[in-house]
Amino acid sequence: MIPCPVRPAQPEDWRRAFRDAIDDPLVLLRHLDLAHLAARLPGSDHTFPLRVPRGFVARMRRGDADDPLLRQVLPLDEEFRPQPGFIADPVGDVAARGALGVLHKYRGRVLLLATGSCAVHCRYCFRRHFAYSDDIAAAANWRGALDYLQQHPDVDEVILSGGDPLSLSTAKLAALTDQLRALPQIRRLRIHTRLPVVIPERVDDALEAWLRALPWRVTVVLHVNHAREFDPALVDACARLRQTGVWLLNQSVLLAGVNDSVEALVELSQALGDAGVLPYYLHLLDRVAGAAHFEVERDAAIALHEAARAALPGYLLPRLVREIEGEPSKTPIWDPAHGQR
Ligand SMILES: *Cc1c(COP(=O)(O)O)cnc(C)c1O
Ligand code: SF4
Repeated sequence: MIPCPVRPAQPEDWRRAFRDAIDDPLVLLRHLDLAHLAARLPGSDHTFPLRVPRGFVARMRRGDADDPLLRQVLPLDEEFRPQPGFIADPVGDVAARGALGVLHKYRGRVLLLATGSCAVHCRYCFRRHFAYSDDIAAAANWRGALDYLQQHPDVDEVILSGGDPLSLSTAKLAALTDQLRALPQIRRLRIHTRLPVVIPERVDDALEAWLRALPWRVTVVLHVNHAREFDPALVDACARLRQTGVWLLNQSVLLAGVNDSVEALVELSQALGDAGVLPYYLHLLDRVAGAAHFEVERDAAIALHEAARAALPGYLLPRLVREIEGEPSKTPIWDPAHGQR
């Protein structure tokens, strides 16, 4: 029998890709013909080890130590050089904890730290030092989060974040949304996820069916930082997500050595536009310990953003923001040359 070349995604495909992620930096470097970089690896990192799915590695360029996808995931020894101002909890998440796995910083919306687990470990992640073990919203069948929402009827939007909420099974997510249906205040559900980017198979039939059946306005916010993260499988996953009727947005982090050029930012927006994804936020780096080498200074960020503004339709320009502890929203970063706005 001649095997069929195109096999539809099976329910277990994404789980297998999740489990089979590369977690040994030497294996990754050998795979990319970059074994000579081994000298720059940190001695050992038990708190936030390398983790990258093979399908994402396949989008990296062999032999290129500066590959923008590789830079996002490869642990380097400079992470372990302390830098003044770069701390474990730069955005005040510990102070904003409302209940088990609940972050309530902004009016009307709560962010659920659904799980501590991610398919990929991004070196610049501001949650890299977070002790997730027991403080996650999915624990005890989402009881803490549901109680919190019951006590806060003014909250009309639930944001699933993490970790990566789509590392949970679709059944586990449905157990939450089935219970949310009993709360009349809920108008919007949002999902912040990088999983479809690194494992496009995550957008399978079960996920689509779940999304289609939700009774609220649903928004999926992806996290793509560079145009080269797009491959045909990701474009297809975006199309499948959009066909469920969700709003599809993207947030990126401005990262030195990854996307800190006008060309990279414009190409990213173009690639997002081609895939039907609207750029939402471009974040300045949160000053988390271990990520100082990714920082782009504020003035340089404004100059890049202004140049991108001049090259793109307005709807493909993300909002340049930073998270400042205690502020009532993400803080927009403005160009002083345009005066007080
Ligand atoms: C970023 C963030 C949100 C979402 O903010 P929007 O501006 O609505 O996208 C909500 N809660 C917390 C704790 C956040 O950090
Ligand atoms: S929470 Fe998002 S940015 Fe942080 S490691 Fe997970 S996928 Fe990467």
